[in-house]
Amino acid sequence: KPRIGVLAVQGDVREHLAALTALGADAVTVRRPAEVEAIDALVIPGGESTVMDKLVRAFELREPLLRRLADGMPAYGSCAGMIMLADRIADGRPDQQTLGGLDITVRRNAFGRQVDSFEQDLDYAWSTPGNTGTVHAVFIRAPWVEEAGPDVQVLARVSEGQAAGRIVAVRQGNLMATSFHPEVGADRRIHAEFVSIVREHRLQQSGARQSPERE
Ligand code: GLN
Repeated sequence: KPRIGVLAVQGDVREHLAALTALGADAVTVRRPAEVEAIDALVIPGGESTVMDKLVRAFELREPLLRRLADGMPAYGSCAGMIMLADRIADGRPDQQTLGGLDITVRRNAFGRQVDSFEQDLDYAWSTPGNTGTVHAVFIRAPWVEEAGPDVQVLARVSEGQAAGRIVAVRQGNLMATSFHPEVGADRRIHAEFVSIVREHRLQQSGARQSPERE
């Protein structure tokens, strides 16, 4: 079973734990530096990225998380979690830091204050066998991806309205992020996409361990 941590300093942690457990992962909370070392992958939940950033630093999680991410640990961020995984924030607070890893610029609260939250059916670039169809996306004071680098795979865009075409789901290597909240509701397909990335990564790692002489 892959052990998947959910960053549990702030935000909607429980919903992610439930989704991951339902998919057969060993889902655990991450609040302490030692817990960062004991996971195969990380989910960063929605919440408030400025607060999450402060708490990550206060709990001395920043350095261990940066180290694991640099080592290639898979991570998935939803909403505030997407912001945490972004290399750049278009309108961040001057003191706001992200963990980074995704070559994207995000804009916080991009859909405007008058549309605090909304829902939309989106086309999604699925990669897990069995995952098909549109995804019903729930956006809550969500960011969008304003710019994405050449190595970033766009998985979904806003389908209608003024923001149509805006990027709201991406993947780059072992990192995945969505502007919306798949942990709300009973659809587990987005989490299944991430669990597939985690399983693939674990297979590659054990292959590399068993045959270190191979490239
Ligand atoms: N607006 C929040 C932020 O900037 C994200 C909202 C969310 O995670 N639902 O961190």
